[in-house]
Amino acid sequence: MRVLVTGAAGFIGHYVSARLLARGDVVIGVDNLDPSGDVALKRARLARLQGLPGAEAFTFHAVDVTDGPELRALFERERPERVVHLAARVGVRAAGTSPRGYLDTNVTGFFHLLECARGVEHLVYASSSSVYGAGTSAPFREDAAADRPLSFYAATKRADELMAHTYGHLQGLPTSGLRFFTVYGPWGRPDMAPMLFLRALREGRPIDLYGEGRMQRDFTHVDDVAEAVVRVLDRPPTGAPPYRLLNVGRGEPVTLRDFLSLLERHLRTRATLNPLPAQPGELESTWADPSALERETGFRARISVEDGVARLVAWYLQQSGL
Ligand code: NAD
Repeated sequence: MRVLVTGAAGFIGHYVSARLLARGDVVIGVDNLDPSGDVALKRARLARLQGLPGAEAFTFHAVDVTDGPELRALFERERPERVVHLAARVGVRAAGTSPRGYLDTNVTGFFHLLECARGVEHLVYASSSSVYGAGTSAPFREDAAADRPLSFYAATKRADELMAHTYGHLQGLPTSGLRFFTVYGPWGRPDMAPMLFLRALREGRPIDLYGEGRMQRDFTHVDDVAEAVVRVLDRPPTGAPPYRLLNVGRGEPVTLRDFLSLLERHLRTRATLNPLPAQPGELESTWADPSALERETGFRARISVEDGVARLVAWYLQQSGL
């Protein structure tokens, strides 16, 4: 299968690409190496991909999804059969200070993907648990209203879901929106709590802990997430319209304090805390109901947070030569 993957140099995108290459798919990787993230890490992920089994079927295209004509030319040249769209401006807090970039990439860029993907067999795209916003009862189910986003990032992701619905209804484009719940693991994002905590613990620096660490997150290991993406990709929705939304989470929330305690245990060290007030754009708790994903694909995220943290720490120590 010929699969175009956007955000291929990103955390989740490079895992998804690796999995597709390992099973013999052709992967057309797209990423603009957005400088608002760690560019050296993105290049390192691409280098890793190029050394993996099946890498000869990987091509990389430094295309910005906000550039509609360039994206269209790429689709016409490469003729993908299916698309996994993971490119985005990420992070809840930064969206409050520079919303324009989020609008351009997450909304206009997504619109370009919808236009270019007309006629493909399936467009799978990243949404987020943050769309559940205010007032959703836990565990979160996909049929909740999700009409009170607390961050601009969440609003852009919810807008994508609504646009995908109209392309299913009017154009018959099969789409699956995946609401990822706090994804963590090796090669993870340096701006997210797991990696921030890990680095600070290793370097003996104080850790910024918002809201006394009482926030809960349904931490989901990236290997489970990549497996879920590929399983969904293989099963385009068949309803009318061919549109669906699926949670990708374990369904077992953990407080940030408990996550930190696991890291402390594995690193045999104690954190120095810098307590800060809870952030207004953040949900107090995220908790997936994973049953729709299981029903549609037979798959349920299975890596426990205990195992996931052990793997993360082992990778981190190996990377830093310790
Ligand atoms: P990431 O930042 O590691 O990957 C996103 C990639 O998109 C980056 O490599 C970036 O360079 C690229 N990109 C940004 N703007 C672009 C543009 N205009 N054109 C082309 N490429 C562009 O993030 P991630 O954690 O791998 O997230 C992947 C997707 O999953 C995103 O859509 C994100 O919103 C969503 N998501 C992630 C999580 C999580 O916990 N990691 C949770 C919910 C949703």
